[in-house]
Amino acid sequence: MPGGLIIIGASHAGVQLAAKTRELGYQEPITLINGEPGLPYQKPPLSKAFLLGKIDEGDLALRSERFFADAGINLLPEKRCVGIDRTAKTVAFSDGARLRYETLALATGARARTLPASFGKIPSGVLSLRTIEDARFVRTAVASARRIVVVGGGFIGLEVASALTTIGCQVALVEFQPRLLARSCSPEVADAIEGLHRSAGIELHLQAGLAEIHACSERLERVTLTNGLELEADMLLFGIGAVPNIELAADAGLPCDNGILVDQFCRTADPHILAVGDCTSFPSHQLRIPIRLECIQNAHDQAATAAATLVGRSSPYVSAPWFWSDQHDCKFQMVGFLDRVDRTIRRDGEDGAFSLWHFAEKRLHAVETINRPGEHLLARQLIARDRLPTPEQVADPAFNLRMVLTPA
Ligand code: NAP
Repeated sequence: MPGGLIIIGASHAGVQLAAKTRELGYQEPITLINGEPGLPYQKPPLSKAFLLGKIDEGDLALRSERFFADAGINLLPEKRCVGIDRTAKTVAFSDGARLRYETLALATGARARTLPASFGKIPSGVLSLRTIEDARFVRTAVASARRIVVVGGGFIGLEVASALTTIGCQVALVEFQPRLLARSCSPEVADAIEGLHRSAGIELHLQAGLAEIHACSERLERVTLTNGLELEADMLLFGIGAVPNIELAADAGLPCDNGILVDQFCRTADPHILAVGDCTSFPSHQLRIPIRLECIQNAHDQAATAAATLVGRSSPYVSAPWFWSDQHDCKFQMVGFLDRVDRTIRRDGEDGAFSLWHFAEKRLHAVETINRPGEHLLARQLIARDRLPTPEQVADPAFNLRMVLTPA
């Protein structure tokens, strides 16, 4: 009977919450429930270095076994939570076990969206990529695949397409929208990224979806697109978005709407239940509407907020989101939101590097950079400390933006 804090979900948010809570001096038992076997692992390398065999599973651990032991965090792998009894303050598991909590934290994450049921029985060679188990399948399949169709022009699809071309695979990428990364970045950045993929020899099919999958003896042979085009394929990988894992919370009667609803302190409607990471919908400090974010920064920062709430040192979650993506020889980084942007200033660097500084009503709202990591870091600091340069300062190449951060 552990009591104390039970965290359901041991990916970036859950592990960080366990670590941070201990760091803040929490003395009660901490139990971290991992639905998957083994140690919790990092997700970003799955679509890049791990896929290419540049690193192995041992390199992916988020924290070592020793760390969990030393911090007194009871990590329970391969344990699936199937229900929450909020009155008794217990969680039930698929093996019939039941544990009591003082505080429960839901860090249940999101799962890859699957192909609609209308596609019928899915043949071998059709894969998605979210977990390490998926990544193992993809890594093995890639070794014998030559002609690969990637469905979805979001980060998963583009990072995988980029990785696969470096090992000589022929890749065609299919995207519903008229442009790549339509949900995440500006048209100007999307154009630059599209150029990179085309130059690397990736066939891009925009404004097209997957219509039919054709197999022979249950083995993938080719696909038909919604525009009628047929593409041969011995592997099809789809990265068509993610769905938040809210079922446990919803079944327990916690309010959910595109995520488990939490406040700025990561508290759900139940005073004994917190929630963090991809599975939450929270009030955005900048946009003043509820949003759900799927990025590592959000997982880490919400975990820190929830840990502080738990030990009675609460402070609201106000971080601006940031993330990165490595594709071909390009590092794309972004901080902030593109909503309501009414003016954009471009700053060019060498060898095609550039940054876009986006303003809304003359306030800096977001910065996108291509191969300008220094400017990305600076932009993050400027936004985090609310020391915002004016559009005129950003537009002046002779002006040192660091001066805004630390005035002489
Ligand atoms: P995503 O960013 O939502 O992109 C999926 C894209 O696929 C969307 O543009 C979607 O169009 C399109 N699509 C959906 N169904 C399709 C179909 N049948 N045919 C053609 N196109 C289709 O999702 P993702 O790339 O799968 O990534 C999942 C999550 O992980 C995202 O939140 C992503 O940001 C995150 N992630 C982040 C990183 C990073 O930060 N570097 C790396 C990997 C993953 P519609 O919008 O019209 O549905």
